Amino acid sequence: MNIVLLDGYTLNPGDLTWKDLEYLGQCTVYDRTPPKKVVPRAKDAEIALTNKTVLSSDVIKQLPKLKYIGVLATGYNIVDIEAARALCIPVTNVPAYSTRSVAQMVFAHLLNLAQHVGHHAETVRSGRWTFNPDFCYWDMPLIELAGLTMGIIGFGRIGQATARLALAFGMKVIAYDIVTPSSIPEGCQFVELDDIFRVSDVISLHCPLTPQTKNIINKERLELMKKTAYLVNTSRGPLVDEQALAQALNNEGIAGAGLDVLSLEPPEKNNPLLKAKNCFITPHIAWATRAARERLLQVVVDNVASFLAGKPRNVVNGVKATA
Ligand code: NAD
Repeated sequence: MNIVLLDGYTLNPGDLTWKDLEYLGQCTVYDRTPPKKVVPRAKDAEIALTNKTVLSSDVIKQLPKLKYIGVLATGYNIVDIEAARALCIPVTNVPAYSTRSVAQMVFAHLLNLAQHVGHHAETVRSGRWTFNPDFCYWDMPLIELAGLTMGIIGFGRIGQATARLALAFGMKVIAYDIVTPSSIPEGCQFVELDDIFRVSDVISLHCPLTPQTKNIINKERLELMKKTAYLVNTSRGPLVDEQALAQALNNEGIAGAGLDVLSLEPPEKNNPLLKAKNCFITPHIAWATRAARERLLQVVVDNVASFLAGKPRNVVNGVKATA
């Protein structure tokens, strides 16, 4: 089988190995593929693998040998799964490989907002402590998380993993989801969406991007939040109206934000959040710990092997065609 991986660099910039994938067929790995090179590079592929390279209906129709599409991520919105279904091409994804890493990133952002370790360490490195009249100093309010309320929107795998960490920090947890789980973990309380905004000291977003959740953080909801509250978004950028959030931060409507995702990635130079007050942005890396990438690659390989064995798994478009 001819396997073409269109954009392997972010999964494996060199610290993992493709050998298990290469074992499954004639494998060509590109670091990245610009849109106009997708068809020429994949035209002989029977198996196409993509992380963020778009496989639109138009592209899929120009790949006559294609039998299988594997997405190297949980979200598969970059593939037109209906077009693939019409051609009996199964599309698979990789669920749940990064749950703990993403929950950990929520707390990396939250602890940064609460204590600004990086900033204070930088001032010490630059010599300021040495000349300080007192034995200590701090530049921003230092916040104890215990006793604060964490509001979680989207109480799925990552939302619940985040809740467990919050409880371990002594926080109270309230949650909102369109689906109420059959059992609510001890220490967590389900509330209405507006109550999340009114009551929370920290709001963490864990719902997927859908027409209903686009701009779920908007001007009106930001105005419901406490002035001392923080927003953390490790889910998807378009959940947030970025102009409204930048305004809320700059006008001290809320105290700070920790963001791992933006509406356009990489962001444009004039994205208002890049320079907003108390806004800390990481470049979509919550998923990218080595442990999570190793798990991801293993599932990608298992998905291809299962397809080749005639039993595709993690299929997201209902096609059970065999190789
Ligand atoms: P999941 O499917 O387990 O949980 C999502 C939850 O959101 C579900 O319980 C669902 O019912 C709920 N939901 C759906 N629509 C909603 C709405 N309108 N309002 C409130 N809740 C709603 O998914 P997960 O594994 O927990 O992942 C959550 C999100 O995290 C993903 O959709 C993805 O966007 C993001 N993610 C980001 C990274 C990263 O690197 N930053 C990595 C992995 C996942």
